[in-house]
Amino acid sequence: MANEILKIARLQDADIKGKNVVVRVDYNVPIKDGKVENDKRIAATVPTVKYLLENGCRVVLMSHLGRPKGKVAPEFSLAPTVPVIEKLMGAKVHFAKDCIGPEAENVVNAAQKGELVLLENLRFHPEEEKNDKAFARQLASYGEFFVQDAFGTVHRAHASTAAIAEFLPGAAGFLVQKELEYLDRTIRNPQRPFLAIIGGAKVSDKIMVLNNLLGVVDMLIIGGGMAYTFLQAQNVAIGKSLVEPDKVGEAKDIIAKSYSKHVECLLPADHVIVQEVKPDAPSQITQAMAIPDGWAGVDIGPRTTALFIERIKKARTIFWNGPLGIFEMDAFANGSVSIAKALAEATKTGATTIVGGGDSLSVLKKAGVKASELTHCSTGGGASMEFLEGKTLPGLAALSKSASLPAQKH
Ligand code: AMP
Repeated sequence: MANEILKIARLQDADIKGKNVVVRVDYNVPIKDGKVENDKRIAATVPTVKYLLENGCRVVLMSHLGRPKGKVAPEFSLAPTVPVIEKLMGAKVHFAKDCIGPEAENVVNAAQKGELVLLENLRFHPEEEKNDKAFARQLASYGEFFVQDAFGTVHRAHASTAAIAEFLPGAAGFLVQKELEYLDRTIRNPQRPFLAIIGGAKVSDKIMVLNNLLGVVDMLIIGGGMAYTFLQAQNVAIGKSLVEPDKVGEAKDIIAKSYSKHVECLLPADHVIVQEVKPDAPSQITQAMAIPDGWAGVDIGPRTTALFIERIKKARTIFWNGPLGIFEMDAFANGSVSIAKALAEATKTGATTIVGGGDSLSVLKKAGVKASELTHCSTGGGASMEFLEGKTLPGLAALSKSASLPAQKH
């Protein structure tokens, strides 16, 4: 992966002055009643888009929104993002009601240099997710240069992230550069001790990243629903907590690997438990690791929280992905919220703190911790995890090849 990063061109080094530029952004934002509820992802692209506008470019923005599954679905229209983009970028946005065909061409051609075009949801066409070349060629025809600034989708081989780079020379925008810099530096040159906190529900989603992290971290905390598969692997009673029986063997291997790598691997030592998972369920706190029959673990207990915070205080680099309890229910959010606050404190004392994944970001919000109180909040949970798994990300691999394409004539 590292080699691909080295070959990726940076926007600031590219000759884009006065050019027509196609930019892949990730404006997959929550929309309710036709209004954007959270504009963070749009705000994250301001540096790239403003840089292009200031350089006299005509900027064609393209994004997906939700999962319309290759069909036009009005509830997944990008139209509600237009006023938000105009406000944040301080420029007029021409909206094309389709991302390809005559509608898109007319709108793109009508836009002036220094103006923005937003194409309608790419995923209204099945060709986008099929990484279709003809579709990508049409998208590429709107510009002379391609900028990738959608970190959240670089782990997908889609037409607007992969195939398009065959038709245009391209570079990474400032958001993608920032994401890569933090993730790459964390893995290759962390300040030690390096602590990873991995939570969430599914072991199967995280096995690869756990395996890869064991090669670089000094301490590993496993929490959330996935911790119960690890506790079962150690023959600890887990009651009716979430478990993936077919992953118990792999959980055992991870624990064995942590011993051989001299990585301290911590599991929850006490739990908040309920008989029925519902917001107002009466709960208890266990005395020890074991959970009685008929009860399920829904959050880490206070002793575990204290233990984890102690490790956070010791660490100089901390990566966190995945909640440590069913944080969506307030009664079971305490563990995750305490960890979020501890990360903000650690950042104040000079630790590098990196948080990835939509759920962890929701926890931060619940904890009242701002993104600016941490070193880096990744906009792409899936992409950051796949990066840390050591995988080749198709969007980055494509970009590294596109750097050598000749400049396009317009
Ligand atoms: P993931 O997508 O794998 O990161 O999982 C996130 C989900 O894990 C959240 O929706 C949490 O509610 C859930 N989760 C965290 N802790 C637990 C737990 N102890 N039992 C069940 N689900 C949990």
